[in-house]
Amino acid sequence: MSDFRPATKCIHSGYTPKNGEPRQLPIYQSTTYKYDSSVEMGKLFDLEASGYFYTRLQNPTNDAVAAKIADLEGGVAAVLTSSGQAANFFAIFNICNAGDHVVSSSAIYGGTFNLFNVTLRKLGIEFTFVTPDCSEEELNAAFRENTKAVFGETLSNPSLQVLDIEKFANAAHAHGVPLIVDNTFPTPINCQAFKYGVDIITHSTTKYMDGHATQVGGAIIDSGNFDWTKSDKYPGLTTPDDSYHGITYTERFGKGAYITKCVVQLMRDLGSIPGPQNAFLLNLGLETLALRMERHVENALKVAKYLEQSDLVSWVSYPGLESDPQYEIAKKYMPSGTCGVVSFGVKGGREAATKFMDSLRLASIVTHVADTKTCCLHPASTTHRQLTEEQLNDCGVKSDLIRLSVGIEDAEDIIADIEQALIAATK
Ligand SMILES: *Cc1c(COP(=O)(O)O)cnc(C)c1O
Repeated sequence: MSDFRPATKCIHSGYTPKNGEPRQLPIYQSTTYKYDSSVEMGKLFDLEASGYFYTRLQNPTNDAVAAKIADLEGGVAAVLTSSGQAANFFAIFNICNAGDHVVSSSAIYGGTFNLFNVTLRKLGIEFTFVTPDCSEEELNAAFRENTKAVFGETLSNPSLQVLDIEKFANAAHAHGVPLIVDNTFPTPINCQAFKYGVDIITHSTTKYMDGHATQVGGAIIDSGNFDWTKSDKYPGLTTPDDSYHGITYTERFGKGAYITKCVVQLMRDLGSIPGPQNAFLLNLGLETLALRMERHVENALKVAKYLEQSDLVSWVSYPGLESDPQYEIAKKYMPSGTCGVVSFGVKGGREAATKFMDSLRLASIVTHVADTKTCCLHPASTTHRQLTEEQLNDCGVKSDLIRLSVGIEDAEDIIADIEQALIAATK
């Protein structure tokens, strides 16, 4: 890990050109790598020598970007995946088999909830969901003999609930298992999750890390802090892998064991790598991540303050607002701010919310968040369309809820657009 501050790491980590080499990270758009002898190549397959042989396992462009993200999070190793979904799947599947169990916060992205509650259940992995504000007793009661991990989102999409990271980390460690968090919304710029006891971090790099809505991608980062050898819970890491000539990952790779297993076993067998071109685009986004997050937070706070004082708005939720019930916990874990996503209700309910959306001129209606352009979504008439009014209330999505992803345009233009649409919607 370098000693530079985050904004410098965003630009320089992961790639240092030598004399006469390209200043910008090259795109190694090649599936294969040439060797002079089959003996040399054989050593790579046995993991006896390090080097590239096939892009499904390793690629220099992808590796440079993974190293930058590892450095930003303060971890020891990282791997890129083809999507955030693949990152969360691999993060769990790397240490859980059929018959195992995971404790998860219920405030998580809908795609992750489906992955856990439907697909991983089909593979024989059980989940118990707890609300992020549960008591320590409720949290401890969720653990079983076969629990192998705890999962949560540092700042949940879309409900913006801040995870009490230390509470979840303490419970996980008391039961001898790691805490895995998805740090997509705050990014390492706003939340340094490893400092509060998190062991593994995942990302959908599709969001702020890319930041320009150009590529779908994910990442998994290991803090290197969790000791897999302390119990017999993780035989996949601590006993010989027959599919790799009996290598024991913790013996051979030490702090790199978790990510190495993820690459040489899960990537080998399941694929899900990003193309080098996409990794290059992600890297361009990462170069300005610190700068953009600062502006996203600044703009979102201005918008939230505007909405809070407007007579045409029924409620606003943004953890950066002093009046928000989560203000203190957000300050603790995300001292420089949370992210650019704000949710609020338009007076007049569902109908007014739809009219508001249709009246926007600058902000666009898209199923996306967290890029440079201000955009918004009305879940009740789109992503949550199949749900009844009662079901909407149960999952915390009111029928008047608008999710606004505040971009990095001039805040005055964003607010002017919201104002004219509110007037049109409530006329
Ligand atoms: C979008 C998102 C995902 C899924 O990522 P994809 O890149 O769309 O596969 C996972 N977690 C969170 C918090 C997200 O916002």
